[in-house]
Amino acid sequence: RTVYVNGDYVPEAEAKISVFDRGFLMADGVYEVTSVLDGKLVDFDGHAKRLERSLTELDMASPVTIDELLEIHRELVRLNDLTEGGIYLQITRGAPVDRDFAFPDPAEVPSSLVLFTQSKNLANAPAATTGISVISIDDLRWARRDIKTVQLLYPSMGKMMAKKAGADDAWMVEDGVVTEGTSNNAYIVKGGKIITRQLSNDILHGITRAAVLRLAKEAQMEVEERGFTIAEAQEADEAFITSATTFVQPVVKIDGETVGEGKPGRIALRLREIYIDESRKKAI
Ligand code: PLP
Repeated sequence: RTVYVNGDYVPEAEAKISVFDRGFLMADGVYEVTSVLDGKLVDFDGHAKRLERSLTELDMASPVTIDELLEIHRELVRLNDLTEGGIYLQITRGAPVDRDFAFPDPAEVPSSLVLFTQSKNLANAPAATTGISVISIDDLRWARRDIKTVQLLYPSMGKMMAKKAGADDAWMVEDGVVTEGTSNNAYIVKGGKIITRQLSNDILHGITRAAVLRLAKEAQMEVEERGFTIAEAQEADEAFITSATTFVQPVVKIDGETVGEGKPGRIALRLREIYIDESRKKAI
C-alpha cells in the first residue's frame, strides 16, 4: 500500500513519523475517515469542514489547504486502485525537540499529516442484512466529543467490552441517556419517528448523521433530536447506527433484549438504501 506522510507518497513500510510526534506521545491530533464508493469520495466537503472545525477548536494548524487535501485523497485512491473502502487522515501537532505539555510554536514545529487507504466492502457489508447487537456501557470519555481527536482508548475499550459480551458494539450512556456508539451515532425508531440525540459537545457531529437526517426529512419521515434511554431503545420498533464506513446499519439487540422483531427494520433499511444511492450519485 502507498501511504502519504508529510508531503510524500511512500510504500507503507518506508513511512516514518518521529517518536516525539505529539500524536504518538499525547494523542494531540485530529482525524477524519472519508468513505470511497466506486473510486470516489463520499461527502468530502462535510469531512473537510469538520476537520477545519476540529483544528480550530484545538488551535492547531493544517499543513495543507482543503484543495490540496482533496488532491491527496484522490491521488491515494489512484495509487492504491481503491474502489471501495475508506481514507484515514490524521493531523497532529507535530514533533517538537522534546516531550513537553505546552504546545510547541507552530512556526517552529509544523503539524504532521498522514493519510492511508483501507479497502473494505461497504455497500454489501453483511451486518446490513443481519443487523448488529450492542451492549450499553458508561460514557467515560472527555467532555469535548464534538472534536474528532485521536484519543480513542475508551472507545477501543468499549469495543472490547462488547466483544467479551458476545456483542458487536457498545452504546455509551451518560446521565441515563445514550450519547452515541463507540464510533457511530445512535438512533431508534418509534411509531415511524426517527429519534437521535441532539447535537452538542457530548457527541461527534456525524457527517453521515447530517446526510441521513436530511434524506429522512426529504422522504417525509419524522425526525426528533433528543436523548433516549436504553429501556426506551429496547422497547423501540427499530434501532440503527450511522457512520462514514457503516453508512446505516440496523441494531437488532440491545443488552441481550431483542429490538422490534429482532431483524433489520424497514426504516433503517430504506435509509441505508437512499443514503447509498445518493452517496454514489454525489461522490466526487
Ligand atoms: N460518533 C463517533 C464517536 C465516531 O467516532 C464517529 C465516526 O468515527 C461517528 C459518531 C460517526 O461520524 P461520521 O458519520 O462522520 O463518520
